[in-house]
Amino acid sequence: MTQQVKHFIDGEFVTPTGDKLIPVTDPATQEVIAQVACATPSEMERAIESAKAAFKTWKEVPVSERARLMMRFAHLLKEHQGEIADIICRELGKTVEDAKGDVWRGIEVVEQAANIPSLMMGETVENVARSIDTYSYIQPLGVCAGITPFNFPAMIPLWMFPMAIACGNTFILKPSEQDPMTVNKIAELFVKSGAPKGVLQVVHGAKEQVDAILHHPDIKAISFVGSVNVGQYIYKTGTDNLKRVQAFAGAKNHMVIMPDANKQQVINALVGASVGAAGQRCMAISVAVFVGGAADWIPEVAAAIGKVRPGVYTDPNAAYGPQISPQARARVLSLIEQGKKEGATCVLDGSDCKVDGYPNGNWVGPTVFSNVTTEMEIYKQEIFGPVLSTMHVASLDEALKIVNDSPYGNGTSIFTASGAAARKYQHEVEVGQVGINIPIPVPLPFFSFTGWKGSFYGDQHAYGKQAVRFYTETKTITARWFDDDIQVSGPNMS
Ligand code: NAD
Repeated sequence: MTQQVKHFIDGEFVTPTGDKLIPVTDPATQEVIAQVACATPSEMERAIESAKAAFKTWKEVPVSERARLMMRFAHLLKEHQGEIADIICRELGKTVEDAKGDVWRGIEVVEQAANIPSLMMGETVENVARSIDTYSYIQPLGVCAGITPFNFPAMIPLWMFPMAIACGNTFILKPSEQDPMTVNKIAELFVKSGAPKGVLQVVHGAKEQVDAILHHPDIKAISFVGSVNVGQYIYKTGTDNLKRVQAFAGAKNHMVIMPDANKQQVINALVGASVGAAGQRCMAISVAVFVGGAADWIPEVAAAIGKVRPGVYTDPNAAYGPQISPQARARVLSLIEQGKKEGATCVLDGSDCKVDGYPNGNWVGPTVFSNVTTEMEIYKQEIFGPVLSTMHVASLDEALKIVNDSPYGNGTSIFTASGAAARKYQHEVEVGQVGINIPIPVPLPFFSFTGWKGSFYGDQHAYGKQAVRFYTETKTITARWFDDDIQVSGPNMS
């Protein structure tokens, strides 16, 4: 019998009662490995009620105890990193190393959540007026919710609930229906770490369950990561319902290559950053903008990328896995065709990619275009596949204009040996995360994940200090104590 993915409600893994089933398939074979049942309205309500009840007691748990829970959780995640990675490999098809990295980046956020006492310190000023002091406390909001995408089934849920719960909130998580099993394993470990009943709930499903979250009056804040259209919908609907929302969305990330850059470093960086993880990364480099003579390297870049082969996770030589679904693969292939029709030069074509023994896998081979222009669909759309578009411009200013005109602003990088060029780029570029000779500049969790423009809707970002601000309210107290009230003798003193 096919495995049923359970919900985690009120401290227990419960067998779903809903009859709307979504198959979870192995993207290398199309084998159905599990069925996920969408949570019914009453299951949603039970989860939210339980989170609401748990908030009453969880918010009173001392901050040091909340920190210790996160320490134990981080420890257990490390102990079970391989097991979690194995689930990711099966339901998403990532390579083993990539899947382990997915878990590791999440563990780092849990470690940061263990620093919660110092992150929750308020501010104080003595004598704001004569004998009056003002100080602030940071307090949790209540029930918060998270809606996560398929491409980082461990890391992105771990961006959200550990920080929210460490702040004293309770949390409802709705993971991607395409790879829902990873989160269940993580929830199991959270319970093992000593998390009290009701603090975390996992409800499975799709749009209907997201809508229930968006409209529920008891949910105070929503964190979302996913595509642009859904991100905009969630931001608009959530804020319309007077909730706090942070929505991380799609991207189109440019790497600018100056002619003084280290050529071998550029080639190595582009291979991993463009087609790694099958291009299914919101920080993937999908456009390489070569400045001046650097354009001469495009054939060498394409040759290096051409050596990379996708494959199944059990193959240690596979550089990356399949696309998540046949639909995702078909979309990538149709964009490749459109790129050719629109006049880009396809210097490396991965459309006809086969992997021995896996004829039904969602494979797309590494693909490189040159002579791409900003009017083409392959430039405008987030392809989310192993496809690199390359462009050639005459100056850094021209490159900057292209990047700044893009509606997206998640990540970018510049490769150069010139401090002056790097300084100009970091200062003038309108993108939230910038790498200098670093292709994928994802900040570690003591900073925040700071996408801009169409890649982010909201103001406070994920993890780091900004996550604490997002998941809390500040209470500011102004106090006066009168000298006249100081008693030198108590009732029992004569
Ligand atoms: P998606 O938008 O299809 O799904 C994300 C979540 O939203 C899922 O849980 C899904 O069930 C839900 N959802 C889907 N359609 C919905 C609808 N119409 N109404 C309400 N909820 C809906 O995204 P995906 O395909 O799972 O993930 C890939 C996308 O995520 C890419 O665009 C990628 O760039 C983006 N992403 C962004 C970041 C970032 O930090 N900016 C990180 C990772 C992924």
